[in-house]
Amino acid sequence: MTMIAPGQTIGILGDGQLGRMMALAAAELGYKTHVFGQDPNSPAAQVSTAVTIAQYTDEDALRKFASSVDVVTLEFENIPTATLDFLEAIVPVRPGKKVLEITQDRHLEKSFLNSLGVPTAPFANVESLEDLRAGIARIGTPAILKTRRFGYDGKGQVKINAATEIDEAWEEIGEQPAILEGFVPFELEISVIVARGINGDIQSYIPVENKHKNHILDITLAPADILISISEHAVKLAHKIADQIDLVGLMAVEMFVTRDDDVLVNELAPRPHNSGHWTIEGCTASQFKQSIRAAAGLPLASAERHSNAVMRNLIGDDINHWNDILCHPEMSLHLYGKAEAREGRKMGHVTRLFPLGTAPKV
Ligand code: AMP
Repeated sequence: MTMIAPGQTIGILGDGQLGRMMALAAAELGYKTHVFGQDPNSPAAQVSTAVTIAQYTDEDALRKFASSVDVVTLEFENIPTATLDFLEAIVPVRPGKKVLEITQDRHLEKSFLNSLGVPTAPFANVESLEDLRAGIARIGTPAILKTRRFGYDGKGQVKINAATEIDEAWEEIGEQPAILEGFVPFELEISVIVARGINGDIQSYIPVENKHKNHILDITLAPADILISISEHAVKLAHKIADQIDLVGLMAVEMFVTRDDDVLVNELAPRPHNSGHWTIEGCTASQFKQSIRAAAGLPLASAERHSNAVMRNLIGDDINHWNDILCHPEMSLHLYGKAEAREGRKMGHVTRLFPLGTAPKV
């Protein structure tokens, strides 16, 4: 069975804000949702039809979950592959195991990209202190050492400015399998969000610029202020990746644009992405709706935007300004229902639209 009709149930692995916005989009299309997560009061659990609270290794819980849904999708790429194998034997999982295997591991991901002719920062696989020394000798400094797996928002990575910092860096990332990357002196960071349907049809959103604060996304400007030729090139790269990885679902492709107008791919995220939140207000169909359409095997919607936009994250205590934001009628406020505003925690976001043809301003 390839197409899941409205009225049926979409299973979502992961229960954060992305799962919440996916569940809301699924509800708009008439689907029920069943979230598999760790917290009964999570952002996604609060808005879903059903919730399973269990570990990803709990086979009884996985079996019951898989039998209660018609397709499984995810809001989080670090699902153990054994869990995906288990689920795929019972119910379709979109995007599937191959996509996740590649995108869970920075070394596999960059090797895959280079095998397609997609440029990345120079990199070296590091499994020991000797590998790290050899990597630095080849790539030079500055460089960034990142854990191969489970890194996000700048966690699990350390910059190496000089060869004297090698031992300390290896210790700092916990002496675990890692990737060493040459430091890219980029002009700006952009991302392209691309959806690919079950029949191989593709829709992608306009490239956007992402500005970070303390390694966490702060602001997204849609569209990115780049030459049309660079924008078209970035979109072409994203389409190529989505095709070659056999994506059925939605994927964010994070990229660096250099001073020489080269575009290097930094990272892939096979799920809705923080830099696509503006699409809720700015486009015919949001990234969340698009991800649900792809997972359900429906035709994709147009990813065309009707407005330009700025999206700002509300991190930690920023959420205390929710009532000020509401006093600005042009601002769209989204809150994720998280009880506790810890430092660095994504609590919500705000989007402001601008007419096409005008520059989005902060
Ligand atoms: P990542 O976890 O790979 O997305 O990295 C988080 C952030 O660190 C990126 O958004 C960049 O701002 C920065 N960064 C990561 N890799 C590099 C690199 N090779 N060169 C320069 N900056 C980088």
